[in-house]
Amino acid sequence: MKLFFILVSFLFTNYSPSPASGSHIEETTVWGQTGHRVIGLIAEVHLTRKASRKIEKLLAGKSLAFVSTYADELKSDRFYSKYSPWHYVNYPLETRYNPANRDDAGDVIFGIEQCIEVLSDTTSGIEDQQFYLALLVHLIGDMHMPLHVGREEDRGGNNIKLSWFSKSTNLHRLWDSDLIESVNLSYTELAAELNKQLSKKKLKQFDAGTYLDWVEDSHEAAATVYASAKQGDRLAFKYSYKYNDLLFTQLQKGGVRLARLLNQLFD
Ligand SMILES: [Zn+2]
Repeated sequence: MKLFFILVSFLFTNYSPSPASGSHIEETTVWGQTGHRVIGLIAEVHLTRKASRKIEKLLAGKSLAFVSTYADELKSDRFYSKYSPWHYVNYPLETRYNPANRDDAGDVIFGIEQCIEVLSDTTSGIEDQQFYLALLVHLIGDMHMPLHVGREEDRGGNNIKLSWFSKSTNLHRLWDSDLIESVNLSYTELAAELNKQLSKKKLKQFDAGTYLDWVEDSHEAAATVYASAKQGDRLAFKYSYKYNDLLFTQLQKGGVRLARLLNQLFD
C-alpha cells in the first residue's frame, strides 16, 4: 500500500516542497533541481545500451533527469522523514569517512548502499526497484554537491551567511542553487554543454573508483568551497569566474559516475 502510494504520488502529484524538520539542510534542502537534472541527463548519455533499455522499461519511459528530484519532493511529507538524513554526510574536513561514526539514522553512503541492495536483488518488486532507482539517481547527485559532504558544525555551510548579487543567502544555498541558476541555461542546455566539454581524458579519470572514493573526492571539493568564502562576504561575478569550473566538474563527475554505477547494476 505504501509503495503504491509512493508510485501514485510519483506519477501524478505536483509537489510544493516545504522544509523538512530536523534536517541539517532544512533551510535549503537541495542540490537544486537543475543540478540533479543535469547529472541525470549526463548519465543517460553514458549508459550502455543494455542498461539504458532496462532502465527505460523500469521507469516506464521517464528519464533519469525527470526522476532525479523525486527524493527532495518527498521531504515535504513527514511520512518519509526517515529518508531525510540520507541526502548528506558530515565529517571533519581533515578526516576520511568512517562508517563506524555513522549516525543511526544513516547518511548518504548508507542510503546509496540501501539502493544498491534493493536494485541488485532479483527478487525485489517492481515498485521497490522504481523507488530505489529514483532515490539512487538523487543521492549520487547530492553526493557530488560538495557541501552535502561538508562539516557538521556549520550544517554543511548553511550557517555561513553571505550575499550573492546583493541578495542574502548562505554558502550551502549558493552551491545548491544560486551559482548554477546564474549560469542561466536550462538543464538540457547545460547538460549538453558539459557533455561536449568532457574530454576522453576527463571521462577516463572520472569514470573510476567506487562511491567510497567519490565521497572523499567531494569532501576535498568541500574544503575548496569552505576556503572560497567567509561569513558576511558579498559575492558576485568574480566568484562565478573563479568557481564555475569546480561546479561544472562536480556535475560532470556526478553524471559519469551515476552511469558507471547504473551500468554495473543493470548491465
Ligand atoms: Zn537531496
